Amino acid sequence: MAHKIFNLFNKKNTPQNQPIPGSTQVPNSAGGYSWELDPWQRLGRFLVLGTEGGTYYVSEQKLTRENAVNVLLCLKEDYRRYLDTVVAVSAGGRAYKNDPAIFALALAAASDNPAARAAALEVLPQVARIGTHLFHFAEYVDGLRGWGRGLRRAVGQWYLNRPTDSLALQLAKYQSRDGWSHRDLLRLAHPQAASEAQNALLRWAAGKEVPLEQLSGLAEGLERLKTARSEAEVIALIRQFRAPREIVPTEYLTSPKVWEALLPGLGLTALLRNLGNLSKCGLLADGAVEAVDLVTGRMTQAEALKKARVHPLQVLAALITYQQGHGMRGGGQWTPVPRVIEALNEAFQLAFETIVPTGKRLYLGLDVSGSMSMGQVSGIPGLSPRVASAALAMATVRTESEVLIRGFSHELIKLNITPQMNLEQAVKAISNLPFGGTDCALPMLDALKHKIQADAFLVYTDNETWAGKTHPAQALQNYRKETGIQARLVVVGMAANAFTIADPNDAGMLDVVGFSTDTPSAIADFVSGRLGETVREPSEEDTTA
Ligand code: CA
Repeated sequence: MAHKIFNLFNKKNTPQNQPIPGSTQVPNSAGGYSWELDPWQRLGRFLVLGTEGGTYYVSEQKLTRENAVNVLLCLKEDYRRYLDTVVAVSAGGRAYKNDPAIFALALAAASDNPAARAAALEVLPQVARIGTHLFHFAEYVDGLRGWGRGLRRAVGQWYLNRPTDSLALQLAKYQSRDGWSHRDLLRLAHPQAASEAQNALLRWAAGKEVPLEQLSGLAEGLERLKTARSEAEVIALIRQFRAPREIVPTEYLTSPKVWEALLPGLGLTALLRNLGNLSKCGLLADGAVEAVDLVTGRMTQAEALKKARVHPLQVLAALITYQQGHGMRGGGQWTPVPRVIEALNEAFQLAFETIVPTGKRLYLGLDVSGSMSMGQVSGIPGLSPRVASAALAMATVRTESEVLIRGFSHELIKLNITPQMNLEQAVKAISNLPFGGTDCALPMLDALKHKIQADAFLVYTDNETWAGKTHPAQALQNYRKETGIQARLVVVGMAANAFTIADPNDAGMLDVVGFSTDTPSAIADFVSGRLGETVREPSEEDTTA
């Protein structure tokens, strides 16, 4: 009893199942206390991490509902800031999936504030950049509001404001999704074409009879491929129209010659997704130097990766699938080519914003507790938050010179991860550890106990800490006091929940969103005291991918 009363007044060491006295901490989902994330920061986590798969503690449905409430809060507070945030994440390609941004935009388009609605529809093309995005938007917005004039006009403009070739590509390549097709949207929006060619394309997409000679671009290519009679003809058409895989009749997609013809026109995203197909058909194999050169060469061009908005998680997902030598849903096997694996490792690093090394002494603490080991990040099979955080940490480990890396649950674990390792090895090193409870204070406590000098602690966690006798923020303060080092703490949030172990009132602590393209660079900027945010220039992306 006595120690409990003492704890009420002790601000240096408070058990994590109690709030720090006088603080604004709230209960987290694990029975411990953390701070509540600022609504705008939580919006950032939602946009980048999404809610797919939920968390260890919260179902996907509940997590989505919670986030929707928070999203609406931000929308109401400042719709311009809200839309700027949505566009920055979406157009900047910072998130692995565009769906949360599209959902957030649909909510704004259904706002009861007319100015917010208009502003949301204004940025529709920046967020819904390809047909599939537009279908997702239609599906979300359809459940939230009616198809009034403003919405119909915005969707109509989405089609009309494109050059003919781009329009043909969107119509042919992305035909339907989520029960929506161009035909459905065109019937609702009724856009008035500005040219003969545009008119023909829109009529064609709406399901009307249009003579082949009036069609252009990929729409023409699609119609011609439908009636192609031989592989040779299919290949000739693919070359002529630079046709994507989506419009090639399925029965030809097992042929290495067809894939060879598709290869030059495959966008980088499509290339990453089809490494298995390219291997299964025999085109991408150890002896096939030319194909391996072409594929690896394309995957390792930094500018091209940025331009195509390739996200590191896309590369990681491709790597996980490719190196296991068979598809996630079965069907065919292949022998992974080491050079392709190497190229994927390089591409992973290149897909992040450029990281300027800090030159500081960094202590990386990876939460390897039970809750980090369950579930999937962004719905990617085989990618738990724990594995994802190891991969993310590697982006920092590879650029810094003084890095110590440890795992923690209720106890500290030495991880066998070194800068020389590739992603597969790093992921393996973290995959077969026992599960445990969670004490996010351990990195700081360990550094203090073993006199490890650290300028910054980077803690990769879902912030559901509960098991320790001292809060992480207190452990950091104690570390600073004892060592005289004004160490910083960066919390890398790996789940779209509302919690953070970072004290919002301490300027030396920062919460960043796990697995945004700018996460490692934002960490480096904060740790080294450089200010400013790195934002990727919006660019043309998977309109060809
Ligand atoms: Ca945990």
